[in-house]
Amino acid sequence: MDPKRYVIFGAPGAGKGTFCSRIVELFPHIKHVSTGDIFRENVKNETELGKKVKEFLDAGKLVPDEITNAIVKDKLEQLSQDSWILDGFPRTLSQAEFLSSHFNIDKVLVLDVPRDVIKKRILGRFSCPKCGKIYNKFTLPPKDQKGENEWICDNCGADITFVQRSDDTEEALEKRLDIYEKNAQPVLEYYEKKGKIVKIGTENTLELSKEEIMNILN
Ligand code: AMP
Repeated sequence: MDPKRYVIFGAPGAGKGTFCSRIVELFPHIKHVSTGDIFRENVKNETELGKKVKEFLDAGKLVPDEITNAIVKDKLEQLSQDSWILDGFPRTLSQAEFLSSHFNIDKVLVLDVPRDVIKKRILGRFSCPKCGKIYNKFTLPPKDQKGENEWICDNCGADITFVQRSDDTEEALEKRLDIYEKNAQPVLEYYEKKGKIVKIGTENTLELSKEEIMNILN
């Protein structure tokens, strides 16, 4: 069978990473390639690439195409026999054109989640300091609330105080969403013209069954 190539497209916080994890869990032959993960890994390990891109990631700005395109091409060339799903790339029309000039894309899966839902998801997330269980202040708080920002963990019974993750500030998020919206339209039009777009009509992809995901991919 020929390998299949997918792009997953949507705003930061739309749930691309979660959906890709689910796809890979159900269909392990599909490789998940995330440019954000590649960059974060390099920053963490303080590689040459990491040093070059750190300032862009910290500021929530796009890494220049000359760096990003080369990383993506190199990674995808290593997967020439595999099916893959590309997450976080392309973000701009020029990246989409670059991708098409080197690889054939079968489908572009679009996660269309309203901005207010994304803001709640990202700005409300926190975890238990003891066991790590993930919660959301607005959408998925622990059951037992003690004060405005205080709960008891459902899982391990520890006291939890809501603390915003340092990289999830409202200002940084607004900036990332603005950049996304500005760049998204031409990319979507580009793939629309090529007939590649599949819209995912649910805000919570964890609700999709294996059959539904298979239909999306085929
Ligand atoms: P993400 O996890 O996809 O939100 O990516 C995290 C950060 O990595 C972004 O805010 C950018 O700084 C950088 N990045 C990821 N993908 C790209 C891309 N296609 N073009 C430029 N920068 C990117």
